[in-house]
Amino acid sequence: MAASHIHPHRELPEVVHDCRAPSSAARCRSNGFQKSQKDSGYTTLNHTRRETKAFLTDEDELYQFDDLTKVNPVTTTTVLKCLQARYTFNVFYTNAGCTLVALNPFQPVPNLYSHGIMKEYHTAPRPQELKPHIFTVAEEAFRNVQSLIEPVNQSLIVSGESGAGKTWTSRCLMNYFATVAASSTSAKCQGNVERIEKRVLDSNPVMEAFGNACTLRNHNSSRFGKYIQLQLNRSQQLEGASVQTYLLEKTRVAYQAPSERNFHIFYQIMKGATEEQRLEWGLPEAAEFFWLPNADKMLEEDQFEETKDGMLHLGIDRDTQEQVFRILAGLLQLGNVRFSVATDESHPCDLKEKATCFLKRTANLLKVSEEGLLEQLRVRTITAGRQQQIFKKPCSKRECSTRRDCVAKVIYAKLFDWLVKVINGSICSDSFRWTNFIGLLDVYGFESFPQNNLEQLCINYANEKLQQHFVAHYLKAQQEEYAAEGLESSFVSYQDNQSCLDLIEGNPISIFSLLNEESRLNRLSDANKFKTRLQAALTSNHCLSWDMFSKDPNFTVTHYAGKVNYQIEGMMEKNKDPVPPELVQLLQNSLDTFLKKLFPFEMKEQNDNKAQHKAVTVVSRFKGSLERLMRILNSTTPHYIRCIKPNMDCKPLHFKSEEILSQLEACGIVETINISAVGFPIRVPYQHFLERYGLLRTYWQCHFKNAASFNGCSPAKKRKGSSSTDGSTEALQVTVQDILTNVLTGQSA
Ligand code: ATP
Ligand code: MG
Repeated sequence: MAASHIHPHRELPEVVHDCRAPSSAARCRSNGFQKSQKDSGYTTLNHTRRETKAFLTDEDELYQFDDLTKVNPVTTTTVLKCLQARYTFNVFYTNAGCTLVALNPFQPVPNLYSHGIMKEYHTAPRPQELKPHIFTVAEEAFRNVQSLIEPVNQSLIVSGESGAGKTWTSRCLMNYFATVAASSTSAKCQGNVERIEKRVLDSNPVMEAFGNACTLRNHNSSRFGKYIQLQLNRSQQLEGASVQTYLLEKTRVAYQAPSERNFHIFYQIMKGATEEQRLEWGLPEAAEFFWLPNADKMLEEDQFEETKDGMLHLGIDRDTQEQVFRILAGLLQLGNVRFSVATDESHPCDLKEKATCFLKRTANLLKVSEEGLLEQLRVRTITAGRQQQIFKKPCSKRECSTRRDCVAKVIYAKLFDWLVKVINGSICSDSFRWTNFIGLLDVYGFESFPQNNLEQLCINYANEKLQQHFVAHYLKAQQEEYAAEGLESSFVSYQDNQSCLDLIEGNPISIFSLLNEESRLNRLSDANKFKTRLQAALTSNHCLSWDMFSKDPNFTVTHYAGKVNYQIEGMMEKNKDPVPPELVQLLQNSLDTFLKKLFPFEMKEQNDNKAQHKAVTVVSRFKGSLERLMRILNSTTPHYIRCIKPNMDCKPLHFKSEEILSQLEACGIVETINISAVGFPIRVPYQHFLERYGLLRTYWQCHFKNAASFNGCSPAKKRKGSSSTDGSTEALQVTVQDILTNVLTGQSA
């Protein structure tokens, strides 16, 4: 039967979630990589996998298999069939060993995230026995973080390609944590906690308004990465939260690809502004801004109210909001300042006919001088020579447009940074140092377009880092664990992406180091020369290759998720991301107190020519912020949720096998399942194991004189890194484990 035609005659059940697992047998997600697992000493029970495996001949039953490790054999095809069967039955979550696979339903699913369901997962003695759900993962993290034995910070890493459902999932997880944390709050503290929770949840629509946009792949695509840490105190109450953001796609302010849109907030202002504001900000009735394409695609009136209310709850008063929106309206006006080639020699570039009015409005809204603005857009200031002499050079039409875009980008980026700072100020608890946290990571997935440049290189580099974290923390750790337990036969090969990371960020020579070197030299960048340098320095790395047929200078990187070809043209300039100091000065002299505050005077120094050789480039800044993130992730117990986009048209209940297959391959799901499947799905800390099965010792003493007389049972080796110093406990652990192995395999009978 073709995979796409499973149960064609059956009516789809109503899309309502029932969290009970189909069978009462424990469907334990392995939490085998608890941070402290090695130190505290765990034992593993060889769950009789063969008995619980699904054979693909039972297609009618396939949808019931909650864990892909039970599919037999584990191949991309069988995994795909199982996921398809489940999707057809509106089952969107499936365990894949340590990872939860989340298929995007692309339609609201009644009851899937209701308070009732939250309660069921939160109050279940063993949530792993309920149906797979993001709440199982959330609850596991919640219990770990407040464990009295050894609380440890947790991270939920939500990955997947654009439109797969990462942000949706993160929002649901935040709701879950806010709800369950509130349920453990005493009535006395309720008011205060509710306020914190509300503020934490309100940060979502506000950040999405400023940082999300409609793209070809997702109508609400996050154009920045986000790691939010929810701070929980010892009494399980939410104390506060903090947000870190990564690499906002600020170029979107001034450039939107065909059929894509600018950040939501601009449309919200356009649709939601009052008559008075419209008049003050010079907003026309119909969209006539170059930087506001596809304005009729969506309705935003209500969302503007939601954004404003959210800002208010976060402590941004109505006056400050007005200032922010006025500046944004100024940017829209700036986008209509267009240039034409002039005949005047002193200024090769003139304003286009209608642009004068937009220039005036921009200057008014940003409260800078109109002449000053025009001058700075059309004239470059060059400082040269030992005496640091200043020269003025009229700009070409192209340079004028670049300078205009640069003003918009730098203002928007500063505004976004300010917003994140305010949000943190509003939600972050002073006692953060004494609390534990659950971190939620929602970063852009792997990207490969027909044309890729520095943005994609950075995004794909971030994904490589996360993949490495996954490999190191799960796959490698798991294999080492098995080897230490004498289970070498369980070895499954997996892809280590170290050479790709060496190529991108390695020392002393890598793509990043060469880019930085090139960007710091005060000269015009040459893409062909850069390619030659790459070829000379990095050709030995097998992850680097070249598209011989392309006439433009480019290079190809073999990422863990596939090959991506990058265009070199423009890459060095983007890496420099220069902001001419005279433009910064103009904004520093604005009469708008809010705008002025965004550009403190220290900024001037950073943009001086003198400081150029040590200027921080985009890739070095990004690498630094990612390293900080990885340090945090490494100090936490990770949980992985892989979101999958079932079809590229974002249609409900359309399961496109080829598209899903490439996503499964990209995240190495089959390797993950294989490693989980050959291993032990149940892990019990020695202490718990002894408490539960210790009485078997008596059984053993009655039946056997000597443990060594067991046939076919080698005493379990002392576990590498075990912190136990108590010889007798260890001996008991070994004995009980031996007995149990024999009991379970029927040898003692
Ligand atoms: P990007 O990387 O572009 O930000 P993303 O992975 O964050 O993409 P989302 O914005 O979370 O993707 O999801 C895209 C859309 O899919 C949502 O706007 C929503 O319409 C739908 N969606 C995602 N998850 C669910 C879900 N669990 N239930 C219903 N609809 C969903
Ligand atoms: Mg998103």
